[in-house]
Amino acid sequence: MSTDLPPAIVFTDWDGTVTLQDSNDYLTDNLGMGQPARLKINDLIFDNKLSFRDGFKEMLESIPTPFNECIEYLLKNVKLDPGFKEFYKFCHERNIPIVVVSSGMTPIITALLTNLVGQEAVSKIEILSNDVRIDDNGKNWEIVFKDPDSHFGHDKSKSILNYLKQHGYSNGTSDDDQGIKMFYIGDGVSDKSGAELLAKLSDSSDPTKDLQSLLFAKHGKDLIKICIRDNIPFTEFNDFGDVLNKMKKIIDDNDSINSFVENSKIAKESEELKNVKESTK
Ligand SMILES: [Mg+2]
Repeated sequence: MSTDLPPAIVFTDWDGTVTLQDSNDYLTDNLGMGQPARLKINDLIFDNKLSFRDGFKEMLESIPTPFNECIEYLLKNVKLDPGFKEFYKFCHERNIPIVVVSSGMTPIITALLTNLVGQEAVSKIEILSNDVRIDDNGKNWEIVFKDPDSHFGHDKSKSILNYLKQHGYSNGTSDDDQGIKMFYIGDGVSDKSGAELLAKLSDSSDPTKDLQSLLFAKHGKDLIKICIRDNIPFTEFNDFGDVLNKMKKIIDDNDSINSFVENSKIAKESEELKNVKESTK
């Protein structure tokens, strides 16, 4: 291992996490099958009645627009998380790698990253995602899954483990990794495998051992519901300003990662919210 280790590695989802809108949902809602039909598929995926891969493919296949026009449309409409540029700057200054692990398609992410953050970011941020196959006249296109045998289409946990291995980390938590910290930031169903991997690597079964990894799950989105349902430790965020504040406390002030885990607090709050809604019906 190099002695010049970064203090942490950041793995982040792209759609709806670094960007405010999910590009694929945006295309499906506005150019494809429309939001009501998409939400029906989403419910089936959330309830494990349909794989993410197959549901996602069906959504994308409903979009008749040529791929280049889809990119143009997204460049006009998709916005960056308001705190991301400062977060990116902090990570760059501290030599903290940012790795995008996405169920989207690489050409869309690259075009948006260039447009929203800048050309330099494209050379600094590694993108691990699905690809696209476009026919010769440019009109027809289809998603090419990174892991076609996985029900996620892209198994984010596999990409994270490969990244760690390729960069000389055993699994990010053993002694020879000198306590490198890992953060995962996400919002949706496709982040589940990455979230579970982090929980596994952190060995959260031992309460005396401080976690070495932290999952940031976006407020009000599906990943939080999954984390509460499946007991995956997480902390909540609204935008990358929150992520940066918490990361600074962990890296600069040495705050314990355990102290950020919010499963029971958020579960209680959402239960209370549900009760309020029920009683006002
Ligand atoms: Mg997402």
